[in-house]
Amino acid sequence: MVTPATAPLAAEAFVRVEEVHKSYRLGETEVRALRGLSLELSRGEFTALVGASGSGKSTLLNLVGCLDEPDRGRILLDGRDVAHLSDEEKSRTRNRSIGFIFQSFNLVPVLDVFENVELPLLLRDELSPVERRARVEQAIADVGLGEFARQWPDKLSGGQRQRVAIARALVTQPLLVLADEPTANLDSETAAHLIDLMVDLNQKRAVTFLFSTHDEKLMVRVARVVRIRDGVTVES
Ligand code: ADP
Ligand code: MG
Repeated sequence: MVTPATAPLAAEAFVRVEEVHKSYRLGETEVRALRGLSLELSRGEFTALVGASGSGKSTLLNLVGCLDEPDRGRILLDGRDVAHLSDEEKSRTRNRSIGFIFQSFNLVPVLDVFENVELPLLLRDELSPVERRARVEQAIADVGLGEFARQWPDKLSGGQRQRVAIARALVTQPLLVLADEPTANLDSETAAHLIDLMVDLNQKRAVTFLFSTHDEKLMVRVARVVRIRDGVTVES
């Protein structure tokens, strides 16, 4: 990792995390989840965030995803300090530019695959029903689930459900996808396939991916690994 002191002014950085601190209060104690963490991602990068449980991975993803705010330091998305965004701009950024994939797929059980993937697009009144359908079908085909569009989530395997979650995250055509241990509930073979799929989408669509994992075996599948320990990045 380049440190802010030696880095040239990286105007091209797509995600820039500068000396970010974040603590949680737990009764009397303060848990220091991030302790001056810095990180830079270029557009189209595919990066794994690797660290033990409790090292601060989810906290960092939540901050980059504008779901929470740092105590100190700055987060810049495409050169814009997110602290300067209004609540409306922030939720717009969240809905339009960022896709989230969580380890517990968060699918809606009473909706079929097509309807689950369609959900984030229902907030978009500028899309016609025909355009919306085409986008949903494309997203489902991209993750290899074309035949399962009318299937219920509980009829799918864990790997297939996670594919639905990926399709749902990508259907809005986000610039940035944040995935928090997306393979944690999958067996290692299925997890490896999922990583292949994400790499493939990254290469075809130039979507920027940042995903966390505590699984060291997955690291060999990605070009860039950022290690995090006790709330800061460490050299590998
Ligand atoms: P990771 O995702 O790497 O497991 P987290 O970012 O979830 O790490 O957590 C970092 C530290 O912050 C841990 O010590 C965790 O217990 C603590 N923490 C995370 N979220 C909260 C919260 N909402 N309240 C209190 N402590 C939290
Ligand atoms: Mg976590």
